Amino acid sequence: MIKEAPVHMVDLKGQYARISNEVDAAVLEVIRSGAFIQGPAVKRFTAHLSDWLGSTEEAPIHVIPCANGTDALQAAFMALGLEPGDEVITPSFTYIATVEVIQLLRLTPVMVDVDPQTFNMDPTSVEAAITPRTKAILPVHLYGQCADMDAIVGIAKAHGLYVVEDTAQAIGAAWQPGKATETGRMAGTMGTIGTTSFFPSKNLGCYGDGGACFTRDAAMAERLRMICNHGSRQRYEHERIGMNSRLDSIQAAILDVKLPHLSSYNVARREAADRYDDMLGGHPDITIPFRDPRSSHVFHQYTLILGQAGDGPERRDALAAHLASIGIPFGIYYPKPIHKQGAFMDLGIPVGALPVTEDLTNRVISLPMHTELSGDLQTRIADAVQAGLAL
Ligand SMILES: *Cc1c(COP(=O)(O)O)cnc(C)c1O
Repeated sequence: MIKEAPVHMVDLKGQYARISNEVDAAVLEVIRSGAFIQGPAVKRFTAHLSDWLGSTEEAPIHVIPCANGTDALQAAFMALGLEPGDEVITPSFTYIATVEVIQLLRLTPVMVDVDPQTFNMDPTSVEAAITPRTKAILPVHLYGQCADMDAIVGIAKAHGLYVVEDTAQAIGAAWQPGKATETGRMAGTMGTIGTTSFFPSKNLGCYGDGGACFTRDAAMAERLRMICNHGSRQRYEHERIGMNSRLDSIQAAILDVKLPHLSSYNVARREAADRYDDMLGGHPDITIPFRDPRSSHVFHQYTLILGQAGDGPERRDALAAHLASIGIPFGIYYPKPIHKQGAFMDLGIPVGALPVTEDLTNRVISLPMHTELSGDLQTRIADAVQAGLAL
């Protein structure tokens, strides 16, 4: 029997193989230069990323690099100058980092439900959660598709609130791309501050940790830069409390090689998603990812919803066990909402408070998604999913 090629959840090795000459040269150049911290590679990459996001002379987008996506969120909330007890409205259906930094800074996370189709923050719930202490809204562009930024930015304007966009999963996604210039509405550039992560498996990933903040506000950019550098603008002058959060030159050099490929990487993901849709779309127990016509989707994850609303996790867990038994990888993002995590018990959010979030955590499963996925591999994966659901 011919041994089948292994399936990977992400295939960083395969992607590297196609750009290895360029990456190796860029890394060696940094090593030979000795400029490991805040060297020219970092400046070059941040300038290129700013252009890529649609920065112009009239409407510049400032890119502030930092050590990871969690630090980017922390720096953003430090830069807003909020007071302990100020409320930040955010989804519970997200990665821990989103809500963790709010709590870490002694701000109060107010978690709201998500839309059952898009998995993103539900604007009606946001509106309902506003109190006199609300200072900011923190949408997450989950799985690679923009949250409803027209509604969220509208609510923020009406109530004088900041918007921080967690763009860790959606770099390159565009909101209402047909309506304005595509680049004017890139995820991460529509709020007060956008944050992203360059964790290896993200759509623009480095070979270690990295992150960045984006802002169109020059004063905010200056504050973010200071915060990421021990509160300092001038050496040994510390005007405020900051962090030590830097993007390494080696990571910046790798990102600068990968950035020109990001659009084609996102297209490859979208094409892979289209193929999965064709393979799995007709199945009665599967809801394929909803494509919000107002957002482009960069498919950080390809996430199915199994069964019907109100189903427990049994069907999903049985499928997961089947896939594991035959060596097909999968992910469950996320099996437990943030408001049910031990670290957030003191908020006292009762079970059932966020019904859509709680339902989705029982029913979602994400299939392998990366830039190297072939139709043949996807057929194997889709067949395995269908077989698993038939058991
Ligand atoms: C990955 C991720 C982060 C954190 O990024 P790190 O670089 O791992 O710190 C934050 N929010 C979301 C939604 C993420 O997916």
